[in-house]
Amino acid sequence: MPKVRNAEYTKEYNRKVVLRLLRSHPASRAELARLTGLTRAATSLIANELLADGVIRELAPEIVGRGRSVIPLAICPDKYYAISVCLERDVCEVGLCDFSGDPVVCRKVPAHGDPLAEVIAQIERLLAEHDRSRVLGIGISSPGPLDSERGAILNPPRFPQWHGVEVAPKLSKWFSLPAYLENNAMALAMHQHRLGTSEDFLLMLVDQGGIGGGIVTRGKPLYGSRHFNCELGHASIRYDGRLCECGNRGCLEAYASIPNLLRGTSFPDWSSLIDAYGTDPEAKKLIQREAMYLATGIVNMVSLVNVDTIYLAGDIRYGFSILADYLDLELAGRSLLQKNRFIQVLPADFRSDVKVVAAADIAFSRFLEV
Ligand SMILES: [Zn+2]
Repeated sequence: MPKVRNAEYTKEYNRKVVLRLLRSHPASRAELARLTGLTRAATSLIANELLADGVIRELAPEIVGRGRSVIPLAICPDKYYAISVCLERDVCEVGLCDFSGDPVVCRKVPAHGDPLAEVIAQIERLLAEHDRSRVLGIGISSPGPLDSERGAILNPPRFPQWHGVEVAPKLSKWFSLPAYLENNAMALAMHQHRLGTSEDFLLMLVDQGGIGGGIVTRGKPLYGSRHFNCELGHASIRYDGRLCECGNRGCLEAYASIPNLLRGTSFPDWSSLIDAYGTDPEAKKLIQREAMYLATGIVNMVSLVNVDTIYLAGDIRYGFSILADYLDLELAGRSLLQKNRFIQVLPADFRSDVKVVAAADIAFSRFLEV
């Protein structure tokens, strides 16, 4: 049933649209009006309210064309904060990010023993050190499969300490703060969307832990029922192939995850492979093979969902152009793509603390939803 919207809802909606834009980049009132489709008067009204509330600030005037000056508006980074919890197989991270998304503090937490207790202890420490009233919530990223709606981790391979843990409701209850759980690849995809180049893309996370994927279509994360995320690593690229940990055969992850690609070779990790590329023919062969595996997975995915960009995230970004060149060749050779459309392959945001930033973005983006 279509829902009616009252004036209060519309006001809040417009305010959050403006804030979402300003979290991506500073903009003048005129630019905000153009980007949102609101009238200049309505935009100014919202901007003035946000200024009065201390949520945004005016930057120094900029001269544009013929000596005309405009005043860019930007968010106030210290108005709000979010707790960021990145759950990983080897080590977890707990941090606090400001409203612009930058980490204020970030601490590593052992992934063994009782990691939930460790995470709780670190959050308690962060909240004791900072102004709790400005913390909007807790964003948690984890390898899948997950039930994001319930905030529960299901049964990710090699992650037994977290199996069945309803981590979001547990943290929410403990700290009386909203807490949201998101697949780690989807968290990176939503963060990538905030940086803003494509509205329709697949982000592939390829690292020591495995392969994950997050799809954004028309600017929105693509979920299935109960917020299940796409499990790109477990899309089969070979019906009679290797048995995967998930029980399926020929999964992309069984071939293209970095540990599986490098098994039985002299290369311990992706960066050593890339570093040997110019001198070792074996390294070149393995990189070409990885491109072939990933291209097969990408073609499967883009046959189902229309995207224009593939972002590569995780360890595999290292030496990006070497793999990307082979990947472009592989993709260009697949007739579906060749005939119908061009798909660009780009590196995802590669700041070293991107996972912490992306986990905090989960909480900020929920706050900015209406
Ligand atoms: Zn599998």
